[in-house]
Amino acid sequence: MKIRTRVDKVNQKIVNLRAELEQIRKTCPHQGLTGTYRANVGNYDSSSDTYYIVYRCPECDAHWQEYQHDIRRDKETGDSLSKDGFKFTPTN
Ligand SMILES: [Zn+2]
Repeated sequence: MKIRTRVDKVNQKIVNLRAELEQIRKTCPHQGLTGTYRANVGNYDSSSDTYYIVYRCPECDAHWQEYQHDIRRDKETGDSLSKDGFKFTPTN
C-alpha cells in the first residue's frame, strides 16, 4: 500500500477516535474536577493582565481554562462551580 494511502487511513482513524473521545467527554459529569488558579500579570499594559483557572477532570482527561470571574458559588452548599456548573476542588 502506498504511504499516502496508509497515512490517509491512519488520519481518518484519528479523526474518528477524536470524535468518539469528544462524545464521551460530553457525557462526563466531571466528578473529582480540580481547578488551579493562575494569573498572567506584570504586563506592561496592566489591562492585559488576566486571572484564569485551569480545570482538569481525572475521569475523562478533559482540561480547559476559564476566567476566574466566571466562577460561581452554589448558593446552598457554597461549592465552587465552573461556568457550566461543574463542582470543582481548588488545587495549587
Ligand atoms: Zn470529565
